[in-house]
Amino acid sequence: MSWLSNEEHNRWIDATCRGGWHGLLFRETAAFDCHKRLCPVTHIRPNFATSRNYARSMRILIAEDEPVLASQLKKTLVSEGLTVDVAVDGAEAQYLGETEPYDVIILDLGLPIRDGLTVLKNLRSGGNDTAILILTARNDWTDRVDGLDAGADDYLTKPFHMAELSARVRALIRRKAGKATPVFTKDDVTFDTRNNQVTVQGVPTNLTSQEIAVLSYLFHNSGRLVSRTELSDHIYQHEGDRDSNTIAVFVNRLRKKLGSNLIETVRGRGYVIKATA
Ligand code: CA
Repeated sequence: MSWLSNEEHNRWIDATCRGGWHGLLFRETAAFDCHKRLCPVTHIRPNFATSRNYARSMRILIAEDEPVLASQLKKTLVSEGLTVDVAVDGAEAQYLGETEPYDVIILDLGLPIRDGLTVLKNLRSGGNDTAILILTARNDWTDRVDGLDAGADDYLTKPFHMAELSARVRALIRRKAGKATPVFTKDDVTFDTRNNQVTVQGVPTNLTSQEIAVLSYLFHNSGRLVSRTELSDHIYQHEGDRDSNTIAVFVNRLRKKLGSNLIETVRGRGYVIKATA
């Protein structure tokens, strides 16, 4: 039996993902068994000691069949504190889009098995209103028109700069929250979505990644009651890590660091940050 680091293990899961439908099922089996700390296929026991507490704020789906680009996109968005899944064909993209609670879907229009435009139309006709950013070839302006008319929220033409992609994703997340500017303010607390910086009365505050993830999600859903389960579904990378009971712990820590009035508890139902600027 050999051992893998978290990073090696994630790479392995990503690689199995590239097998399309088979890969998806295989990955879910792997994730389940990793939860039990043993991957049966490779007989490798991953070290999940640190990833167990690894929390992020918003969930993004990347549907892109070019492995290098998909990997770069994932790396960029993960480095910004986002939870990222990758689909490598249109069928997998549609399945994940219909079954997982994403905040933004980045959808390449040129996908195998089912093209991106069909995936987009199917998601919208099924009532899915997740923000969708389409990736198109530079010289194909008709694709952009068709995509926007089919319900895409934004587009980028290849090749593009990762910084622009990140900015567009942040803008889509904000727009979903009904927010035009990148900084949330509630009383004397500010949260800057560009760098996840939190201040109290202008003084920067040190928060853990879990605390930032919870705070970010609640700010982006200001005025709406959010259950512990919904929070847990959005901020944990791996299904096996999701535990709604730990959310209460993070909220309590946030109250200690940011003041007791910021996050309100609705007993038995969840949490809310009321009106923000
Ligand atoms: Ca493609």
